[in-house]
Amino acid sequence: MTSGESRVVPFGDKFALKYIGGRGFGAKLLFDQLSNIKDPLGPENILVVAPGPLTGLYLPGGAKTHFVSMAPLTGIYGDSNMGGNFGTELRQAGYDALVIAGLAERLSYLWIDEEEVAVVPAPDLAGKECLEAERMVKEKLQSEEVRVASIGPAGENLVRFATINTDWSRNAGRCGMGAVLGSKNLKAIAVRGGKDLPVADVAGLRLLTERSMKELSSHALFEFWQQQGLMSVVDYVNSAGIFPTRNYAENVFEQAEQIDGFRMEKEYKIGDTACFGCPMSCGNICLVKNGKYKGTIAEGPEYETACMLGSNLGVGDFAAILRGNQLCDDLGIDTISSGNLIGVMIEAVESGLLKPSDVDGMKLQWGDDGQINVLLEKIAHREGIGDLLAGGTRAVLARWPQLTPLVVHVKGMEQSAYDSRSTISMALAYGTCDIGAHHNRAWTVGKELEAGGSWKAEDRVDLVIYHQTIRPLFDMLGVCRLPWIELGFDESRYAEYYSVVTGVPHTLDELLERSRAIWDLTRLISAARGVGRKDDYPPPRMLERAVEKGPYVGRVVERSEYDEMLDLYYQKRGWREDGVPPAGRARSFKDSLG
Ligand code: SF4
Repeated sequence: MTSGESRVVPFGDKFALKYIGGRGFGAKLLFDQLSNIKDPLGPENILVVAPGPLTGLYLPGGAKTHFVSMAPLTGIYGDSNMGGNFGTELRQAGYDALVIAGLAERLSYLWIDEEEVAVVPAPDLAGKECLEAERMVKEKLQSEEVRVASIGPAGENLVRFATINTDWSRNAGRCGMGAVLGSKNLKAIAVRGGKDLPVADVAGLRLLTERSMKELSSHALFEFWQQQGLMSVVDYVNSAGIFPTRNYAENVFEQAEQIDGFRMEKEYKIGDTACFGCPMSCGNICLVKNGKYKGTIAEGPEYETACMLGSNLGVGDFAAILRGNQLCDDLGIDTISSGNLIGVMIEAVESGLLKPSDVDGMKLQWGDDGQINVLLEKIAHREGIGDLLAGGTRAVLARWPQLTPLVVHVKGMEQSAYDSRSTISMALAYGTCDIGAHHNRAWTVGKELEAGGSWKAEDRVDLVIYHQTIRPLFDMLGVCRLPWIELGFDESRYAEYYSVVTGVPHTLDELLERSRAIWDLTRLISAARGVGRKDDYPPPRMLERAVEKGPYVGRVVERSEYDEMLDLYYQKRGWREDGVPPAGRARSFKDSLG
């Protein structure tokens, strides 16, 4: 970005097969640059944008693009992915990964096609919301076919949980990847390509996908999934008693029916959207037809947003959540981190730990969606209290250490929308997640609830490690995990896909082994920043404060039980007791791109 120059670096088969793509490519490229990177928001930090070898192909969910960087929110290894069409287009332009470094003199966008990569100054994009920026870039390029990933005001203002947005509301939401773009004066990346994607065995790919489509579409829950997408999770989680409510104090929300998937379907949904080529079409386009938010139209919310901008803030009005969702998409901020931090602020004011004068005179209270929307704007524009909140949990704790019992985070990342006191394996999943307290690496709730209390530490550790291996494999291949999670799609099918695409036969176990190695690699990156056992614990709210409502009243994460799991977890990973991979492990990643 500094010089405006670019170069193309080919990589060899050995590199491609070892790191696979997506998160694997990103982690390796970041590892190679680590010693040069001082500050995630410094020009020396790199942002790797990498789809996977299955992105853009004819198969369910082959639509994901990964963004990998040192994370502004946590200061350690970070990644986040988006669906939509962006990654497909990038591959069709001829690229498996972009590595973006430096700092442009003026606000710019990056233009990429099969012939050129250009840094184009565009100061008129300053302050534009994500969707407007996307529209303006398309207009400048005089093409509706161009795919654009953009940031909103939050990314420009270096909000540490700023997102990157594409196709209206597909977001790389976590870790603050939008702030990395902002720190480089990069407002958007626009890409156009028309190349065929490399597939060794096209007939084999077609056969596999015909089988996959048949299996998915005959699944008993296929239509229900299309109708509700991730909103179908609200009822399950609430009735299971793990639905974070009022800053994780309670686990059942009395107004859940007002904000669940059925309510959405009945009163708000007007259409579906899907990522590239995906038959599951889980995006819900919703419109508010009456009331104070009349006219609001947005894609979403997904489950996490319904919880974090809904029950977690005491909001039982679907229209208000949709408006909050739309604001976050437009401003370019993560709904999970935002809802989590605002929950802490409301509780702090309601409990008297903070005074209204600490929060710009706002008398914050549960369920006040008007105030919540004001806070979202303040965060994105770094106004008043929003400037502090824009720094994330760590900044809040640095100012007000007395809020330690209230904040729910791991490694500086605000926890997502499943309580972990009722299913202790989920506490381990959050605690050991390589980017912080995010659910996407391991979601063990369902299996542990099914087991009905019969699980020992080893059952929990085994499931967490399996999830932390299979799910990141999806992130390396560039596919969506939802067909597997929601419709029981057979994970070994992905080894078949990878085999027909590369022309090199692979078993699932071989791919899992590579994913497991990348888990070591991301840990090594963070360990170089001081991460170890001390960072792998649940927050005080999970360890010390009992659940107040729901079937798990009185439950906390027992520290001795957690320690037992953590010891076993390190043993099974072959890490030292302090949570760091042994010294020799790093050597296996010293290979070159060739
Ligand atoms: S399941 Fe949903 S999020 Fe995943 S690729 Fe398909 S449409 Fe996109």
